[in-house]
Amino acid sequence: MENGAAPTVPAVIVAIDGPSGTGKSSTSKAVAAQLGLSYLDTGAQYRAITWWMVNNGIDVSDPAAIASAAGKADIVSGTDPADPTITVDGVDVSGPIRTAEVTSRVSAVSAVPDVRARITELQRSLAASAERGIVVEGRDIGTTVLPDADLKVFLTASPEARAARRSGELKGADVNATRTALLQRDAADSTRKTSPLAKADDAVEVDTSDLTLQQVVECVVTLVEEKRAAK
Ligand code: C5P
Repeated sequence: MENGAAPTVPAVIVAIDGPSGTGKSSTSKAVAAQLGLSYLDTGAQYRAITWWMVNNGIDVSDPAAIASAAGKADIVSGTDPADPTITVDGVDVSGPIRTAEVTSRVSAVSAVPDVRARITELQRSLAASAERGIVVEGRDIGTTVLPDADLKVFLTASPEARAARRSGELKGADVNATRTALLQRDAADSTRKTSPLAKADDAVEVDTSDLTLQQVVECVVTLVEEKRAAK
């Protein structure tokens, strides 16, 4: 090493996909924090554009109306895993994007190709500028957004485990109603034409139904370290 410079660790790109309630966010944040990487919640970006559409009177049952408004919102994501942020036109929307109204409309908005093109561009630019690397969580990261990611993980879990986790997060919401809403959203996300929720052929599938968060995190960290060692 010349001039006492620190050894450079190559940036590592990790894609974590899967349906809702499989532990994607908790896992991705913890893996990023543990490895000193950036973190991007792409679901939050789709929720933010949906929030903007609803707040600006766009008819979210009309794909043409959604498409023509797709470029108007200025969505900015902060990628520190200890404090991920999301703003729209400078307004912090981290709370409002989690409302039932946004959750029930986000699949329709995110199915519109112009929306996906816009958000995908933001995601690729954030991934390219993350110096040490990034953990990006979503539905189409391994298949479409970052097909050359160093590691692709696809998390799954039984509908029961997923509904139990989600209703716990929603502070005791009815488990059956949560399960139905969650399965409807996954069905919409999996059957849309443009970049549906799907496992990439080269993704490692991890069923989290019977694992603790810590076990899933350890598993993914080990996979990242193996990839780094092989680089
Ligand atoms: O992950 P989260 O449940 O917050 O995602 C909200 C919605 O955003 C999903 O149901 C899906 O419609 C959309 N989404 C997507 N592609 C991604 C991430 C999320 O279409 N990469």
